[in-house]
Amino acid sequence: MDISKSELLFAEAQKYIPGGVNSPVRAFKSVGGTPLFIKEGKGSKFVDVNDNSYIDYIGSWGPHLFGHNPPFITEALEESFRKGVSFGAPTAIEIEMAKIMVDLIPSIELIRMVNSGTEATMSAVRAARGYTGREKIIKFEGCYHGHADFFLIKAGSGALTFGEPTSPGVTKGSAADTLIADFNDLESVQKLADANKGEIAAIIIEPIAGNMGVISSSDVFIKGLRKLCDDEGIVLIFDEVMTGFRVARGGAQEVLGVTPDMTTFGKIIGGGLPVGAYGGKREIMNKISPVGPVYQAGTLSGNPLAMAAGYAALKQIQDNPGIYDSLEEKALYLEKGFKSNLEKLGKNFAMNRIGSMSCMFFTEGEVKNYKDAVSSDTALYGKYFHEMLNHGVYLAPAQFEAMFISTVHSTEDLDKTIKAHYESLKAVL
Ligand SMILES: *Cc1c(COP(=O)(O)O)cnc(C)c1O
Repeated sequence: MDISKSELLFAEAQKYIPGGVNSPVRAFKSVGGTPLFIKEGKGSKFVDVNDNSYIDYIGSWGPHLFGHNPPFITEALEESFRKGVSFGAPTAIEIEMAKIMVDLIPSIELIRMVNSGTEATMSAVRAARGYTGREKIIKFEGCYHGHADFFLIKAGSGALTFGEPTSPGVTKGSAADTLIADFNDLESVQKLADANKGEIAAIIIEPIAGNMGVISSSDVFIKGLRKLCDDEGIVLIFDEVMTGFRVARGGAQEVLGVTPDMTTFGKIIGGGLPVGAYGGKREIMNKISPVGPVYQAGTLSGNPLAMAAGYAALKQIQDNPGIYDSLEEKALYLEKGFKSNLEKLGKNFAMNRIGSMSCMFFTEGEVKNYKDAVSSDTALYGKYFHEMLNHGVYLAPAQFEAMFISTVHSTEDLDKTIKAHYESLKAVL
């Protein structure tokens, strides 16, 4: 496969952009090789600058539920930009956007738009702190909530110690208020809650985690979290930046049957444009400026172009509730194909899937938490990733990411992918 133009561009990019990329995982560091520069996308595929075409399973890391450039989003954008791209004053489309989210997600009473998932989660935590008057938060090992300082923390030596920064530039002060628990381990949360009684403002979780591969909360765990938060007056925040409108119309909270106090969104709700949002109970959201004292703002928040694209995506979802059945069908078809391949190859790799979001871990046995996930053979994943690329299938360039199926992946795409999966695994095992 000729990727010479990507190689030239990558060399050029590194002269002006740190590492040549504007978000680190795009750089292929964990799989090796040169990142492909993409010039256009249509439907389930995109094309690199050397005109190689790939079936795309990252969908811009989650947003493209309907594939690349669906006509209803393109048209909404065209109509919007002709009227002007930003005013810094209220527009009617912001009401439409908020209303459709309130209509589709029962736990949302009020919602505020921001520009990324990172902004959504950091603002949600600030609101929860303002509402409770408490400072500490609990997060889970392996869950990603964007790159705000107080999320870039890992557990210290014991579960009861304070977290320590995982990134230079994060102060010990930021780390001190973040406590780390183990995913799917209620006891680890209870211990932290007991040791910090009356001090915990919020528990934030990816209820279906998608940033350590794909791992769902168990029923006992997530319902236990809800009860613990009720008992202790802790705000339960579901980070549904990835799972919102992905795993079901009502997100992970619908799938798991648990209602959070607050939810964060991003990815799909922007229709491919930079959008995030946070919302939930009226009494919490009313703490936010200008109603309440918790400050949060954004020059381009609720931007008309971004709202037009996001609203077009959500309207499509509202008008076609059947898409989730069809996504489930496609995803199950792919899963069955992959499992049959693994059987033929005598491998028992863990495959986790919830709806159109899935991950094959290069490890055998169940994957229920971060420790299980990191037992994967990431070097082998890297080889597999490159074989798949050679077969025209674009996966996430890292093991601990989700594979996304869109509504426009065809049976032909899926069959081609299953065949590529078999041949790639055979080549690397
Ligand atoms: C992607 C993601 C974020 C961060 O969103 P950005 O738009 O990249 O800032 C936060 N939480 C989860 C669960 C995500 O998947």
